[in-house]
Amino acid sequence: MITRMSHLFLRTLRDDPSDAEVASHKLLVRAGYVRRIAPGVYSWLPLGLRVLREVERVVREEMNAMGAQEILLPALLPREPYETSNRWTEYGAGLFRLKDRKGNDMMLGPTHEELFALTVKGEYNSYKDFPVTLYQVQTKYRDEERPRAGILRGREFVMKDSYSFDLTDEGLTASYQAHRDTYERILARLGVKYVIVSATSGAMGGSASEEFLAESEIGEDTYVRCLESGYAANVEAVKTLAPAPIPFDGLPAAEVRDTPGTETIDTLVEWANGADLGKTVTAADTLKNIMVKTRVPGGEWELLAIGIPGDREVDEKRLEASLEPAEYVLITETDFKNNPFLVKGYIGPKALQENGVRYLVDPRVVDGTSWITGADEEGKHYVGLVAGRDFTPDGTIEAAEVRDGDPSPDGAGALVAARGIEVGHVFQLGRKYTDVFGVDVLGENGKPVRPTMGSYGIGVSRLVAVIAEQHHDDKGLRWPAEVAPFDVHLVIANKDDAAREGAEALAAELDKARVEVLFDDRKASPGVKFKDSELIGIPLVVVVGRGFAEGNVELRDRFTGESREVPVDDALAEIL
Ligand code: ATP
Ligand code: MG
Ligand code: MG
Ligand code: MG
Repeated sequence: MITRMSHLFLRTLRDDPSDAEVASHKLLVRAGYVRRIAPGVYSWLPLGLRVLREVERVVREEMNAMGAQEILLPALLPREPYETSNRWTEYGAGLFRLKDRKGNDMMLGPTHEELFALTVKGEYNSYKDFPVTLYQVQTKYRDEERPRAGILRGREFVMKDSYSFDLTDEGLTASYQAHRDTYERILARLGVKYVIVSATSGAMGGSASEEFLAESEIGEDTYVRCLESGYAANVEAVKTLAPAPIPFDGLPAAEVRDTPGTETIDTLVEWANGADLGKTVTAADTLKNIMVKTRVPGGEWELLAIGIPGDREVDEKRLEASLEPAEYVLITETDFKNNPFLVKGYIGPKALQENGVRYLVDPRVVDGTSWITGADEEGKHYVGLVAGRDFTPDGTIEAAEVRDGDPSPDGAGALVAARGIEVGHVFQLGRKYTDVFGVDVLGENGKPVRPTMGSYGIGVSRLVAVIAEQHHDDKGLRWPAEVAPFDVHLVIANKDDAAREGAEALAAELDKARVEVLFDDRKASPGVKFKDSELIGIPLVVVVGRGFAEGNVELRDRFTGESREVPVDDALAEIL
């Protein structure tokens, strides 16, 4: 079918939307692909919907090719299954909850492990039925704390989620590998540049969970990789593999001065007053394990951190000031002259990162507390303690960035840090959900066996933004042919009737050859049309312009910017 721009439900915008910070968001709104309804909630207009459907098509083709079967579960769900798995509680504020007219608790599904486990339990009961992999392409709901960048982090978004069911661990490994391969094929077809990073620390076996991160400076994930060996990991996974921080106690003795055995906040305050400290620390803070150590000036350490609460009862206002209340470090600054210790307040690891402070956490955790050492971009150093609810030796704390140039844990070379956007996640779940719901089937020997699960997600709507983010220039979008809303953008840029008729004939020919044509048949100026075509970003633009008098049309490659004239009679062959 020929889509005529004179009829298309499309309005392009000249200006960037005021709430947009990243290129894909600006361009998708300006080019009329999506429209905002509420934070993290967007409508898809014709062009955007076509791209979304193209991404879905590629995902479906590859999922079907690996033998997965598509089903569709509801997004509106009862509370019970999630109550049984405890995720009704664990999901916290991220879950959209609602009540039906009878007062029953309902929710909008953020992910569907529970429902798939129950679905398989409902249908299958023999070892002969396995293995099986099911998937859906479905709208998910998460009340994200910070919806961001348009459709990149939505509160309503489209995900392909699949779930594998195997009877043996080897089977699970094979299903996992099949998904991993499928994801590689999908992302290659979509033209996405990505890395696969391990999402869990080595302790869990390394391959239990991996993320597919699209390379992008605007990404929210930081990963490190070793170019020599190919080792790559999300920094949250490598944190426990990070080189040991410089332990406070390891500083040369001459440069360290211990405070008199400070065990309570009172003694700290007493000492602080004596030492002319900033008065921000008060006895109202319930702290324990207070330790204050100072260094003489002149060395490399210019900033020191002190203190640290080992429990959770600290001044709430201070905690609010922290960006990451779960883990915090008390930063102090000293010039050793007028204000030996000015307490600057609590600051969390996120804030440290945002301030360009590279920091490391000692994995040897004692009583939920550990040393942290760090340095900012100017080479100023920090030392302190961290503590927090989630801070455990197996590394569940969100911790240190691993620095550019640090050795790779496999010893093969140096680590390079970069940013990425999570587009896919593959995960060997094991029997967590089949245990919860008692999914047992009859085994070969007549005894019951419990299937082991994998769960795998791809951000379908997020991928639209990611592709736009990786493929655009200052003029607009540049879709890879596989996902472009149309194959060809045919533009009339010549007022003559003969040219219009020629363009109509070419459009009809292309249509007959099953080429998807967006036909700019509007009565606008060539300048307006070219601007729109650059913004919309269809990979091949065919212009029926001045050259038509000599029997030529122009072919423009939106990717390379190259253009060439071809005889109109050859145009079809050239395009196909
Ligand atoms: P993120 O770390 O970005 O919050 P996630 O780890 O919470 O993602 P998963 O639960 O692993 O996400 O879901 C599978 C996939 O769904 C992700 O890899 C991502 O591509 C996509 N996704 C997750 N949250 C969103 C969202 N809010 N908007 C769009 N896509 C999302
Ligand atoms: Mg998330
Ligand atoms: Mg994630
Ligand atoms: Mg994930």
